[in-house]
Amino acid sequence: MAQIGNTSQILVNTTDVFTTDQKFATPDAVLTWARDVGDANKVNIIITRSDKKNGIRGRNDKLVLGCDKGGKYDSSQSSTTTASKKCNCPFKIRAAPSTDGSGWKVQVIHGVHNHGLPDQYHGHPRKARLTADENKRVQDLTKRKVAPRHIVLDLKDQNPESVVDATLVYRKRHMMQIQERGSRTELQHLLQLLDD
Ligand SMILES: [Zn+2]
Repeated sequence: MAQIGNTSQILVNTTDVFTTDQKFATPDAVLTWARDVGDANKVNIIITRSDKKNGIRGRNDKLVLGCDKGGKYDSSQSSTTTASKKCNCPFKIRAAPSTDGSGWKVQVIHGVHNHGLPDQYHGHPRKARLTADENKRVQDLTKRKVAPRHIVLDLKDQNPESVVDATLVYRKRHMMQIQERGSRTELQHLLQLLDD
């Protein structure tokens, strides 16, 4: 069967890559992770909604992420910016603190994009970051007490084109410490509640 008149319907499923059991200490940590995964998979992650618990009943901490092609197509956009044109992409990830207090958990609400992902992806116009794989590697090696400069060498070994440098590794290790401390604080808070 020839596919005639069906070329405009491109669907790209990224559910798998954004599915994780990982727990995050803060919404920022979720965003950093999602942007890393996005960069590795040519998806430009944006914040769709960010709610903070403010004492009003029913309103809880929540972070909703989307793809930069989400939202209505805007005809006022110049034709030279096709790369960033919105096409109402339904891609959506939700993050919220888990009820057991172990951190923020991530849920893929809609993992399918209604557009192709670019062959040439330049990522966010921000500082170099570790890819999701590199992040994982830094985590593993840090747990095994490997020195940062050796971690850098290891990552360069795996990928000579890696943008990793000692600053990125130190930053990542710092984040890990904050996350650890964060979950410990939540646990202490929970124990205190049980005590009361
Ligand atoms: Zn999309």
